[in-house]
Amino acid sequence: MKKNVVLYKEIEEQALIKLQAHFNLNYFPVVNDDNRDAFYDALKKADGLIGASMAMPGSLLKLAPNLKALSSISVGVDQFDLDYINANNIALMHTLNVLTETTADTLFTLLLCAARRAVELSNMVRNGGWKSSITSDQFGVNVHGKTLGIIGMGRIGYALGKRAYHGFDMQVNYYNRSANKEAENTLNAQRLSLQELLTSSDFICVVVPLSTETEKLIGEAEFKLMKPDAIFINGGRGKVIDEKALIEALKNNVIRGAGLDVFEVEPLPGSSPLCFMDNAVVFPHIGSATAETRLAMANCAVDNMISALQQDLTKNCFNAQQLKS
Ligand code: NAP
Repeated sequence: MKKNVVLYKEIEEQALIKLQAHFNLNYFPVVNDDNRDAFYDALKKADGLIGASMAMPGSLLKLAPNLKALSSISVGVDQFDLDYINANNIALMHTLNVLTETTADTLFTLLLCAARRAVELSNMVRNGGWKSSITSDQFGVNVHGKTLGIIGMGRIGYALGKRAYHGFDMQVNYYNRSANKEAENTLNAQRLSLQELLTSSDFICVVVPLSTETEKLIGEAEFKLMKPDAIFINGGRGKVIDEKALIEALKNNVIRGAGLDVFEVEPLPGSSPLCFMDNAVVFPHIGSATAETRLAMANCAVDNMISALQQDLTKNCFNAQQLKS
């Protein structure tokens, strides 16, 4: 008999067809006030739950007493109640690797846009403000040959480092709990303390997962340690930084600029000061948002669900170590 799976996000047709072929599927392209009760009802019989971008506290997951597998269409798993999932022996699958290079492209785009003031100056042209050659107060800063400090030298951090080192001749440094020998050997990356990295970098990019250890890792004190010309990029999760402290740092020229793909609250409210600051480049969480990569992620998540419900946890299982067989 086919297992019951609930899908709570719109996905590409190819992946949807595969999911429907394998499971008895309950499909909610979005969950909102109109269909929330039907979604809760569907959870009662669910063996598997697949989707993204929805908070999954224990109070919600306990509506699905038969749940054996969760398949997130993301690599980050901070939206899940890990204690509940581990205590209830639920496999948590995620889409490792397929989004790494695309997300690194996005982060390097943010870095270049912030350094060259690309969005601010493009908006000036669109608004009819380009009346003569730009003046020195509108110049950007060089990227090539500068120092990039990566907080979280994992898969995406390394892919970002490759772009910086090979493409832009940058010195790459990093902060991690453990050494990344591949980055040290192939990118000449130096592992530094957080303080050393903050004080010595021209560009600082955060790409650590959100956890109890990394929440508000970067706040007022850390911004004050950065060079006045530093450009700060956040591509991990919004809550890894103290957003109020960042806004103050940008307002008071404690740092030069920022490029942000993630925010404490998403979608970022249009009233946020970050929406009105020329020295902040803000993206709507588009790290992995290309057609090719989103399809690859959806396919990967479907394959992960199929494997997990067959009790094959050899690939892409976040909590394989914690599960009891
Ligand atoms: P990863 O390979 O697991 O890399 C994470 C790195 O962070 C590791 O090198 C890890 O090294 C380091 N780290 C973890 N906790 C740390 C701590 N407390 N202090 C210092 N370093 C720490 O993960 P990834 O695939 O690169 O993805 C990283 C994160 O990027 C995801 O979790 C997600 O939140 C975010 N992301 C964002 C987007 C987007 O659209 N903007 C897209 C994809 C992913 P150690 O364990 O040695 O410390």
